[in-house]
Amino acid sequence: MSPQEPMSGQGPYDLAVVGGGVNGVGIARDAAGRGLRVLLLEGRDLAGATSSASSKLIHGGLRYLEHSEFRLVRESLEEREVLWAAAPHIVHPLRFVLPVRAGMRPAWMLRTGLFLYDHIGERRRLAPTRTLRRGHAPALDPLRQPIRIAFEYSDCAVDDARLVVLNAIDAHERGACIAVGWNLVAGRREALLWHLETQSPRGERRSVQARALINAAGPWVQNVLSSVGVPWHRALRLVKGSHIVVPRLYAGAHAYTLQGSDGRVIFAIPYADEFTLIGTTDIPYDTDPAQVAVSAQEIDYLCRVAGEYLLQPVLRQQIVWA
Ligand SMILES: Cc1cc2nc3c(=O)[nH]c(=O)nc-3n(C[C@H](O)[C@H](O)[C@H](O)COP(=O)(O)OP(=O)(O)OC[C@H]3O[C@@H](n4cnc5c(N)ncnc54)[C@H](O)[C@@H]3O)c2cc1C
Repeated sequence: MSPQEPMSGQGPYDLAVVGGGVNGVGIARDAAGRGLRVLLLEGRDLAGATSSASSKLIHGGLRYLEHSEFRLVRESLEEREVLWAAAPHIVHPLRFVLPVRAGMRPAWMLRTGLFLYDHIGERRRLAPTRTLRRGHAPALDPLRQPIRIAFEYSDCAVDDARLVVLNAIDAHERGACIAVGWNLVAGRREALLWHLETQSPRGERRSVQARALINAAGPWVQNVLSSVGVPWHRALRLVKGSHIVVPRLYAGAHAYTLQGSDGRVIFAIPYADEFTLIGTTDIPYDTDPAQVAVSAQEIDYLCRVAGEYLLQPVLRQQIVWA
């Protein structure tokens, strides 16, 4: 895909999308596929923000069942196999081992949740949940002795950044202009059109018009609202989630779903063949999203929860990336 620039002087776009994360490119691809003339503005790089720093899962979100968010879980589960079928080269099934641990959620509750998880979405090809017992399941060997039983269930893993780039390429092939390095800096709504000011990293400016504007700027949505003069009535609440990557902690292609003593759940996931990715945290954040970084407390937390389960200690000095 060759570099593209916003085109002024050729009439208004049907749709301008701000943000080249997974939401922006997905919207641009969908709209271009419906025959709309689409402009996508990405100020930095495609998948340069949240969409390349995720846990890299296509999942229904098992923990949302606890909050009775059945519709959210069902819709996400349905999309899981759709994405797997559409992009099997970057989406693959992943088995998760959820150990049953004394003092945590009881086995009956976990099994009931997993029964729902197996049945409320359109699960066709992914394997169902099964029970693992120590001595009969190698996946329990890397875990500390008191753990004798676990449930193994299905979700999918994805190369998150590639998912974004592939959607952008497909949107481009369907006619969308994917302007990477172009920021939306100002805008106003006038005579049924958005008049948008865009700027390249070299300071070059282009004015474009669009009939509709979609704000897919992730943690910067409020900045975009300000720049186009749209008031917001609710303050945005940002949270940060961090992962650590350490040399591979266990054999096997499965992931672990680990309940911390605070009731939260973290994952340990095979990553790039030689590593294990552990995360995530969930911390309120109120400063510049571009400066987000993992803190020492988050690292300690992730090492501690993983260490409560895994025989092999997880040490701060092992961390190769966070
Ligand atoms: C720790 C963590 C783990 C997660 N794990 C998962 C997971 O496993 N599976 C899952 O499905 N979801 C997961 N999520 C959620 C998912 O990652 C996010 O919902 C998703 O990435 C948000 O994408 P986005 O496109 O809305 O925003 P972003 O990816 O943040 O993209 C916004 C883009 O807008 C651009 N932008 C901002 N302002 C402007 C402007 N003025 N002009 C031009 N461009 C602009 C930015 O440069 C940026 O590239 C996770 C989230 C977190 C935080």
